[in-house]
Amino acid sequence: MDAFSALAPSWTEKAVHAHGFNCPTCRKSNVEAAKNVWINRRSPVYGEGQKRKWQEFYHCECGCAWWAWSSDRPPSELGERPEREPNRPFFDPLDDW
Ligand SMILES: [Zn+2]
Repeated sequence: MDAFSALAPSWTEKAVHAHGFNCPTCRKSNVEAAKNVWINRRSPVYGEGQKRKWQEFYHCECGCAWWAWSSDRPPSELGERPEREPNRPFFDPLDDW
């Protein structure tokens, strides 16, 4: 619900950078085990080809908090929304950037 809130939830403070979209502790994927998610859209970074990327924080059910770049997210096979328009900014009525 608050994945796009402006303020970082407290559990993100101890998040570690995961290389890949798996929990560094239990190796479960964000889709399998994330009980909470927060997207740091306040600090987007421009990667290759002017494509924006940002930090995605996941709170795993094992208690570990981790984050990875949105650009590193693998294509999902588990029913996540397909990205039809990758360059379209997220719609958010409260957005002010
Ligand atoms: Zn875990």
